[in-house]
Amino acid sequence: MKSHVKVAVIGGGVVGCSVLYHLAKLGWTDIALIERSELTSGSTWHAAGGFHTLNSDTNIAALQGYTIRLYKELEELSGQSCGLHHVGGVTLAGTEDRMDYLKAERAKHRYMGLDTHLVTPEEIKKLSPITNVDGVIGGLYDPLDGHLDPSGTTQAYAQCARKLGAEIYLRNPVRELNHRPDGSWDVVTKDGTIHAEHVVNAGGLWARELGEMVGIFLPLHPMEHQYLITEDIPEIYELGKEHPHVMDPEGESYLRQEGRGICIGFYEQACDPWAVNGTPLDFGHELLPNKLDRIGDSMEFAFNRFPVLERAGIKNVINGPFTFAPDGNPLVGPVPGVKNYWSACAVMAGFSQGGGVGLTIAEWMIEGEPTQDVFAMDVARYGDYSSRAYARKKVTENYQRRFTISYPNEELPAARPYQTTPAYSVWKERNAVFGQGYGMEVVNYFALDGEPLHETPSFRRSNAFEAIAQECNAVRTAVGITEVHNFGKYKISGPGAADWLDTIMAGRIPKVGRLSLSPMLSPKGRLIGDFTIARLADQEFQLTASFGAQAYHLRWFWDHQPTEGVHIENVSLDRIGFQIAGPNARDLLAKITTEDVSKEAFSFMSVKQMEVGLSDAIVQRVTYTGDLGYEIYVPATDQIALYEAITNAGVEFGLRPFGMRAMMSLRLEKSFGSWLREYKPDYTAEETGLDRFVSYNKPVDFIGKAAVMKEKAEGPKRRLCTFVVDALDADVWADEPIWKDQKVVGFVTSGGYAHYVQKSVALGFVPTEMIEDGAKFEIEILGEMRPAILITEPLLDPTAMRMRG
Ligand SMILES: Cc1cc2nc3c(=O)[nH]c(=O)nc-3n(C[C@H](O)[C@H](O)[C@H](O)COP(=O)(O)OP(=O)(O)OC[C@H]3O[C@@H](n4cnc5c(N)ncnc54)[C@H](O)[C@@H]3O)c2cc1C
Repeated sequence: MKSHVKVAVIGGGVVGCSVLYHLAKLGWTDIALIERSELTSGSTWHAAGGFHTLNSDTNIAALQGYTIRLYKELEELSGQSCGLHHVGGVTLAGTEDRMDYLKAERAKHRYMGLDTHLVTPEEIKKLSPITNVDGVIGGLYDPLDGHLDPSGTTQAYAQCARKLGAEIYLRNPVRELNHRPDGSWDVVTKDGTIHAEHVVNAGGLWARELGEMVGIFLPLHPMEHQYLITEDIPEIYELGKEHPHVMDPEGESYLRQEGRGICIGFYEQACDPWAVNGTPLDFGHELLPNKLDRIGDSMEFAFNRFPVLERAGIKNVINGPFTFAPDGNPLVGPVPGVKNYWSACAVMAGFSQGGGVGLTIAEWMIEGEPTQDVFAMDVARYGDYSSRAYARKKVTENYQRRFTISYPNEELPAARPYQTTPAYSVWKERNAVFGQGYGMEVVNYFALDGEPLHETPSFRRSNAFEAIAQECNAVRTAVGITEVHNFGKYKISGPGAADWLDTIMAGRIPKVGRLSLSPMLSPKGRLIGDFTIARLADQEFQLTASFGAQAYHLRWFWDHQPTEGVHIENVSLDRIGFQIAGPNARDLLAKITTEDVSKEAFSFMSVKQMEVGLSDAIVQRVTYTGDLGYEIYVPATDQIALYEAITNAGVEFGLRPFGMRAMMSLRLEKSFGSWLREYKPDYTAEETGLDRFVSYNKPVDFIGKAAVMKEKAEGPKRRLCTFVVDALDADVWADEPIWKDQKVVGFVTSGGYAHYVQKSVALGFVPTEMIEDGAKFEIEILGEMRPAILITEPLLDPTAMRMRG
């Protein structure tokens, strides 16, 4: 065993072996994989080996496509067969909603270059004669679906890595991970200690234990999962070709051919989290006892859908555990706050995702950032709020919903309410309908009298439509109030604060009492944040950005924090309060403060520390609604007093509360983008229009400067634009293809109904040369082509008189 390596990968399942291979492939060969037992000793050996490209996140779907295409390369390089069966697969739709979902997926695949297509019940019957298509409306066929040999594939990764110089140490459990002052690791194993610059936790079923070794909890949990293998079935072996995969979401099952019979697995409702108190260290190549009673209902459904099953004997039942994160996507990347410790965990579909996870880790470690945005599987999408109980409840929910339709407006019920602000009970009394983001309850809208306290999950306009319209109108014609707790907030202070911010932000650093908007860029010039910077004093700033990006942004801040002179504090839960917005907002604020808040004394993009109601508040004159407005921040303890002050004074001004749905509608009228929709690491400042906030001429060499200067000189190939859509009862959500002259030329990032101007709006990217005011396009919404007109000015107040007034 070596005494020093650049990277120690812990865990020899399919994921660890893929990480090892990709590190070596990208040029780091002084690396080793350390495995407790033999390769595949966790969940890998008993997997059903299926693979597919479907994922609601387009970038993860693309990485799944990469994984599937990689297998040929592995076989060639290693000489080891992966046992590939590229048989294709069809997902059935038994309801109109499911068909809508499949249509939306198909539309998305068009610009991703995936060759899926919708199929009729008759076509399904031809593909899979054993399927009873009664009640089936249609399906989605993916020629890339298939299955493989899990052990052979893992060995193929390992052999490829070895060929490139990587080492693998078997039967050697890692017992301790000790951090050295320089951030490197002493990896203490049964066979001795290896010094490693980086460690990768690819511990699969034991990922939680490898997290505990460094004092962290990774939000994942193992779940039991069962599949059955039947005896030979004549309808299968006499088919003359290999039977394709059939996913039957209504029956919560997946099916494929195994030998001369069938393999069928279930994601049942009566599921069990496994090893709640930790994975036993001696758990090895064994299976869990069968629990066929749990899948009784699903089996009955399957007998009806695939009648041959009723006659087939069961040869084998596999019940094994594997791990999930709360949203079912992997946990990948550098763990915030633990230097040089990487997560490659919670990969629940190792044979669809393992290659993509390995590639992502290798690019991130060696090149500094992955090629594409991977936020949907970034370990930093979760924060400190994700407790063990939260993770377990969400993981259970995710397992149960594996085959449930995900509606874009849906709020999932498990582990709620969890984190709340003091205003939660006030909103509840006012009929608030809540959502949850980053563990926090957030008001989506306020139900109208007599309406249910629940938004119907739908791809089309929901029962919340009228309530949201009224909230938007109140903001535009009088004044609205909403919370500001769904911003991440950071206090940056110290003698070095201004200079440091100047380096990590691409925009201008404001003078005392002023605000500025600034993109934060990666070295490659990609957007990793859009911040409002408020300068409260010479050496004190308040930064606000997306609430859900806290761990993501803090990781970046900590990685770039100088050893002295800059103090970083996350005050997201300490400084909360309200935003008031609308033409009456100034008059309302004037009633509850002694400060002069006239236009002259408190101009647009200013910040003041002032008395509001009973509290000392930080007030920023800016609002995302695009109207006259103020964000008022007070200590969490003062929130209710502030609420009383605003609402009592607000009566005469027509004050009305509004939620996030209205906020998202209002911002569309101003063509404002939002984090992870329009602004994310897939895009640049030039492409999104955020270049107007880049300070190209500032002398400092800010991160991403070279890249952004280059792009400015060359001009971007595509740009974010606004479209007015001739929609019917469904507006865009995200990822719909944009067509011109029968060709897909772009894609939608987000959109919806802009209630005040009464137009359906989409934001999305199209090639620069097509951008012209009034240019005609079509956007595919749920399988229908809808005419769309490109507009180059915001629908409301293009000269920003409302905001500045
Ligand atoms: C019944 C069943 C069916 C499935 N079907 C499919 C399917 O059809 N398609 C699909 O893609 N996925 C399927 N899966 C999921 C798949 O098995 C996982 O996605 C995959 O195995 C995860 O691999 P991994 O490398 O992350 O973890 P694991 O396979 O659990 O590997 C972790 C490794 O780390 C080692 N390790 C842990 N701690 C230490 C330590 N301290 N020191 C050294 N080594 C350590 C372990 O010994 C183990 O070998 C299925 C799973 C089950 C249970």
